[in-house]
Amino acid sequence: MSEEIARAAELLRAGKLVAIPTETVYGLAANALDEAAVRRIFEAKGRPASNPLIVHVSNVAMAKELALNWPPEADRLATHFWPGPLTIIVPKHPIVPDIVTAGLPSVALRMPSHPVALAVIEAAGVPLAAPSANRFTQLSPTTAQHVRDGLGSAVDFVLDGGPCTVGIESTVISLSGLNPRILRPGMISRTQIEGVIGPVDVGAGEESPGQHPKHYSPRTRVVIGDSPLEGHGVRLDASNMPGDPATYAGQLYGRLHELDQQCLDWIAIELPPDTPEWAGLRDRISRAAN
Ligand code: AMP
Ligand code: MG
Repeated sequence: MSEEIARAAELLRAGKLVAIPTETVYGLAANALDEAAVRRIFEAKGRPASNPLIVHVSNVAMAKELALNWPPEADRLATHFWPGPLTIIVPKHPIVPDIVTAGLPSVALRMPSHPVALAVIEAAGVPLAAPSANRFTQLSPTTAQHVRDGLGSAVDFVLDGGPCTVGIESTVISLSGLNPRILRPGMISRTQIEGVIGPVDVGAGEESPGQHPKHYSPRTRVVIGDSPLEGHGVRLDASNMPGDPATYAGQLYGRLHELDQQCLDWIAIELPPDTPEWAGLRDRISRAAN
């Protein structure tokens, strides 16, 4: 693995695209400070230029270098939840190219906990812009094989770090507005965050241009709730999916990738309970069905 990490780092420093494992989903990484390299991410994914990227760092000092200022809430959140599946949006330092943030004055930062992701960032010596390593609106990859199937030759190198353990995209919180606001729910819940920084607002609204209602979708039609009467398909519900959110998240995208290969007419999914710890999963399931 150390040779592959060195090769990945070398490619990244040369402006290439490398798919890297993180604990959330596989990321399509490029040097975040290299405008031309970041442009290739948008091309490979077919992602609209209006959709800002998350920049991955290997320590808090690196995050601070990319921020114009680092609010006290950012320090508390980083202390509690980094490395881990929480993305923190803060005012952007001018060294971050505008293409990374889709022209926004703020930048999204995350320190992943996957040891391979951390090692690649360290070895490359630069922060990595990395959205999920899939075509725009398609299902996020949670294995190296998902990446190869979805992106093929559009990526210069795929670093295989095994299946992702968290399994859905990070919680995104903005500290660049008047009040802290959760723009995207994830496996770090509102309750956990409020335990650290107090009350937060919730909802993407105008602030988060990339939160398209259709996102994270398999090709097969996904319906919420009961199975359709016509055609044939599979229903994911409490009888065949894990009862705790962390295990459920670890399996969801893998199950959907697998079912998507089976030429089904539909996939029906029972929406999990409406509680904070399931909020990230309810969000992704709802959007898979759009
Ligand atoms: P992903 O799709 O996992 O790459 O996550 C990126 C998402 O984070 C984007 O689609 C936006 O919704 C959000 N995001 C990233 N940067 C910003 C920013 N500067 N301001 C608001 N939202 C952002
Ligand atoms: Mg994505």
